[in-house]
Amino acid sequence: MRIGYIGLGNMGGPLAGRLVQRHPMHVYDLRADAVAKFVDLGATAADSPADLAAHCDVVFTCLPKSDHVHEVIFGENGLLGTLKPGSLIADMTTGDPARTRAMAAELKDRQIDLIDAPVSGGPRGANEGTIAIMIGAPQPLFDKVRPFLESISPNIFHAGDVGTAHAVKAGNNLLNLASRLMTFEVVSLLVKNGVAPEDAVAILQKSSGRNYTTEITLPDNILSGTMHQGFLLELMRKDISIALDLARDSDVPMPLGTLAREQLLAAINEQGGDADMSALALTYERITGARIRPDDS
Ligand code: NAD
Repeated sequence: MRIGYIGLGNMGGPLAGRLVQRHPMHVYDLRADAVAKFVDLGATAADSPADLAAHCDVVFTCLPKSDHVHEVIFGENGLLGTLKPGSLIADMTTGDPARTRAMAAELKDRQIDLIDAPVSGGPRGANEGTIAIMIGAPQPLFDKVRPFLESISPNIFHAGDVGTAHAVKAGNNLLNLASRLMTFEVVSLLVKNGVAPEDAVAILQKSSGRNYTTEITLPDNILSGTMHQGFLLELMRKDISIALDLARDSDVPMPLGTLAREQLLAAINEQGGDADMSALALTYERITGARIRPDDS
């Protein structure tokens, strides 16, 4: 089976970077510089999604939103123009489960399968080969895509049928955001009460309040002063909307999730949607008056 990858940005780049080490691959992105890096690694550049699909049986996508996935499949020069019956599209975007199910249903008439395969663990997790990959697919399609994904990480999970993995991913990101905000609040409180930020984080990491923010986000991106995670506030806003839309449609009250979204919106108004997620710490420093970053960053 021949594979292709579309979307070589902050997340798709490292994911495709693992695949290209083991599989000959066609690649496509709107950004020529992103494609050129992959050509240097041995991949073949495609001129359009249709050009890529003419050479591939399995196509991975990692695009900002489900809108972009729809455009790449059904738009002008899209995958649908040349993809052969029996082909598979595995969407690694953090997408909207309802949109994913609708696209999969439409493609079924053309004997093309679409499954969701989003990831969690960021560029660092992809580069280190530890990222979690969740799959929404019937069992035979899970079995079909799994050998390729094993080149990226062994942490592959079958969430259920098409759309379920996108639901899990949205829920995960809401949990990540809420725990991140709560952690910033508590670390700020401790700093204002005489604890150095690195001591607060070191203690919390080994205590019952530990979470991804104490273990990864704060040490790697904030206390280090780099202020770079490689994930934009605007993309988090999209993920939170997916989760809270699901909650509304499922009659699940989510007061804490809703509060987390309000705080995120306030940070976006202050920092801009194009700011890195690390900029949330700047908003918290302003609100609380506690400095978490090193003085020289
Ligand atoms: P990004 O903006 O860095 O990359 C998106 C890439 O898609 C860009 O290179 C862009 O040129 C390309 N693109 C956009 N429209 C296109 C089109 N029509 N045809 C071809 N290429 C197109 O975004 P990202 O951070 O890589 O995120 C991609 C997806 O992965 C998002 O759904 C995001 O929520 C998810 N995700 C990101 C992270 C992270 O840490 N960055 C982690 C987990 C999941």
